[in-house]
Amino acid sequence: MSAIDALPPLRAVIAEHGLSARKSLGQNFLLDLNLTAKIARQAGPLAESDILEIGPGPGGLTRGLLSEGARRVVAVEKDSRCIPALQQIAEAYPGRLEIVEGDALALDVKALLTPPIRVAANLPYNIGTELLVRWLTPPEWPPYWESLTLMFQREVAERIVAKPGSKAYGRLALLAQWRSTARIALVLPPEAFTPPPKISSAVVHLEALPEPRFPADPAVLSRTVAAAFNQRRKMLRASLKGLAPDIEDRLLASGIKPTERAEQVSLEQFCTLARNLAE
Ligand code: SAM
Repeated sequence: MSAIDALPPLRAVIAEHGLSARKSLGQNFLLDLNLTAKIARQAGPLAESDILEIGPGPGGLTRGLLSEGARRVVAVEKDSRCIPALQQIAEAYPGRLEIVEGDALALDVKALLTPPIRVAANLPYNIGTELLVRWLTPPEWPPYWESLTLMFQREVAERIVAKPGSKAYGRLALLAQWRSTARIALVLPPEAFTPPPKISSAVVHLEALPEPRFPADPAVLSRTVAAAFNQRRKMLRASLKGLAPDIEDRLLASGIKPTERAEQVSLEQFCTLARNLAE
């Protein structure tokens, strides 16, 4: 492995700071700095961007982002044991790494970042989907971020990029593809992580579109697709009946057959239905 920066190898950092991986915090660390540099390069033009990193842990991806030239990184980590290891990185890259200790689900660190802002993270699996949905559904668009480069379980990554008619198509595909372009940038085997998880992972790269592909209210669209796919085997007139008493008429007015199942309905049709339901 080549020396990407002058800091000690990550295994030594983990040993020095006693960072045994905790399952409760979704800790599967990336220790190969060539690999973390490769992931960092997927995040777009780093030199002209501030990067928000969630869950830096011992700092593998943080080091990748900085060594690949990120203008600044703001890293939010919940595990206090990791903070001294991250401070060593901050000292090696003066003025370019800000560490925030806390829960990414509870903190809003936007004010610490200067646009353009990109998000990069090897996310804890237990909060990844929740954070992604939050990033995709703010009331206003465009969002504060230009792109999201995020590690997920491979199966979740496939749900984000899925097309209508496929088994993986659902709420995540619709919300992601409504306001951004989404692609799988890298697939990683379990052995890339320490400890290895049971399944493969994938890095998804999403670029925010200047405006949504079709107009719709994010809260109404989100509710509609959640209801449609919660009972994906049912016909839409049944799965959506809780949303409006005259749902059959609304489906017909939106160009959707009430007997259709969620899997067959396009993004454009869901947006039309969401607009009809918002009336
Ligand atoms: N980025 C590191 C890497 O690639 O080796 C660590 C990745 S590990 C999958 C997830 C990291 O997120 C852990 O360091 C964990 O402590 C942290 N984490 C878990 N829940 C968090 C939360 N709610 N807010 C911020 N960080 C969290």
